[in-house]
Amino acid sequence: MDCIFCKIVEGTVPSTKVYEDDNFIVIKDINPQAPVHLLVIPKRHYSTLMDCDERDILGGLIDVAKRVSTEKRLHERGFRLVINTNEEGGQTVFHLHMHILAGRALSGKMG
Ligand code: 5GP
Ligand code: ZN
Repeated sequence: MDCIFCKIVEGTVPSTKVYEDDNFIVIKDINPQAPVHLLVIPKRHYSTLMDCDERDILGGLIDVAKRVSTEKRLHERGFRLVINTNEEGGQTVFHLHMHILAGRALSGKMG
């Protein structure tokens, strides 16, 4: 499958990994929108949030985000989690992922 995040998971496309377990990797976004911009990516391919009904993966996205945010002490100043879904939701890579944004005062606007 021609999916950039599957290739990153396989290791055929390089990335800066900050966390890995059996089900997830966390990498630095290539085009950061904040001083800290990480992506929590399930190793299994789900095109969008709507294609994943597995509670362990859906819960794991937040568990992993909390773990990495705690390790990096992002929670002390604050952070934002985002899952863009389909075109008008701003999704550009169709492999489920959650953004972690931190390191500056984020806009109050959601879109
Ligand atoms: P989306 O717009 O789908 O919610 O988010 C996709 C994110 O993936 C974007 O923030 C984009 O910068 C990032 N991205 C796209 N291609 C690559 C890549 O090859 N490597 C990394 N590290 N991030 C990527
Ligand atoms: Zn994929």
